[in-house]
Amino acid sequence: MTATPRIAALIVAAGRGRRAGGPVPKQWQSLLGKPVARWTLERFAAIAELIMVIHPDDRKFAENLCDGLDVTLVDGADERAGSVRAGLQALAIAPPDIVLIHDVARPCISIQCIQTVIDTLADHAGAAPALPVTDALWTGENGKVTGPQDRTGLYRAQTPQGFRYADIMQAHRDFSGNAADDVEVARAAGLDVAIVPGEERNLKITVPADFHRAAQILKEDKMDIRLGNGYDVHAFESGDHVILCGVEIPHDKALKGHSDADVAMHAVTDALYGAMAEGDIGRHFPPSDPQWKGAASEIFLKHAVDLAQSKGYAISNIDVTIICEKPKVGPHAPAMTARMAEIMGLREDRISIKATTSERLGFTGREEGIASIATATLVAA
Ligand code: MG
Repeated sequence: MTATPRIAALIVAAGRGRRAGGPVPKQWQSLLGKPVARWTLERFAAIAELIMVIHPDDRKFAENLCDGLDVTLVDGADERAGSVRAGLQALAIAPPDIVLIHDVARPCISIQCIQTVIDTLADHAGAAPALPVTDALWTGENGKVTGPQDRTGLYRAQTPQGFRYADIMQAHRDFSGNAADDVEVARAAGLDVAIVPGEERNLKITVPADFHRAAQILKEDKMDIRLGNGYDVHAFESGDHVILCGVEIPHDKALKGHSDADVAMHAVTDALYGAMAEGDIGRHFPPSDPQWKGAASEIFLKHAVDLAQSKGYAISNIDVTIICEKPKVGPHAPAMTARMAEIMGLREDRISIKATTSERLGFTGREEGIASIATATLVAA
C-alpha cells in the first residue's frame, strides 16, 4: 500500500427500504431537514472519494442531494451483492487502494469509527465494526420461548466494511449468490477480517422510529462553536460627543471616521465576521463607497448578525473592551448594553461592555483616539 492510501467510500443506496415507511425509500427521506443519504455522504466526504450505488428509478433524488459534493452515481442491481459489485466495477477505471463499503441508512457513523477501520487495514485484509451481543438470547416459536441461545462469540455487524480494493473486487468476482454483507464475501475468498469496536450510535435506519433516534444522535453532534475577535481604532477630531455601542456620550472631542466612527460597535461587528471567516466590515461595506459616509454603524452590525443567522449560527455572547482615558464609559455601560441587545436581538446578560485606560501610555494614553477589542461566540443553531 502507498504511504497515503487512496480511499473510496462505496455507499450502498439501491434498496427500497420499505419497512421504514414514507412515500419514498428511506435514504431519500429527510432527517433534521437533510436527506439521510446526504448525512451519510458528508460523513465520508473529508476522508474518501464518494461513489453511491442507486436504484435507476431514484437518480433524480440522488442527483438533487449530491449538490456541492463530488459523488459518482452508479446504477445498482436488485440484490445487495450485485449493487456492491456494480460499484466496485465502476471504481476499476481508477482503482483506489482501500474501499469502505457502507450502508446508506447508517448516517450516524462517527468519523473515529471510520478512521479505526482504515487504520486496522494496515494489518488485516479486512476490517469492520461490530458490537458484542449483550442481551440474553432465546429461541422462540409461535410467540413462546423454546430455549436459551448461547450468546458467546456473537456480534451485531455494522458498516463500513473496509478492504483493499483489489482483494474485495476479486472476492466479489469469485462469489456467486447473494451475501448478507461484504465480510461474508471476503471470508469466502479466505480474507481475514478484523472486528473493530462498533457503536450504538451507528444504527441502521430500518423502521419509522429509527428516524427519531438518528435525529437525537445527530442533534447532540452539533457542537460547532466558533470564536471571532475584532479590533478597531478611531482618532479624535474636534467635536462635542462620541458614539460608543450606539450611545451618544458627551465629550470635548469627536471620533473621526467614514461612518459614525463607533469604534466599539465596529470591533464587535468584526468579531462576528471573524467567527464566520467572513473578513471584516471593510469587505462588506467598502469605505470607498460614498453611501456609507456618516452611516449609523448599526447597519454593519445588523448585517453581521443577519449573516450569522442565515448561516445557521446563534450568537452566544459578545465581550467588548473600550480603551481610552476619557470619556468615562462606566456610567453609560447599561445604556450601551441595552442598545446592543436591541440591535442584535440578544438578552442583556449575553453582552459584556467594559472599559479600561492604558495608564496614560501610547496613543490612547495621550488621548489621541479610542481603541476597542471584542470577542464573539457563535454556536451552530
Ligand atoms: Mg472602524
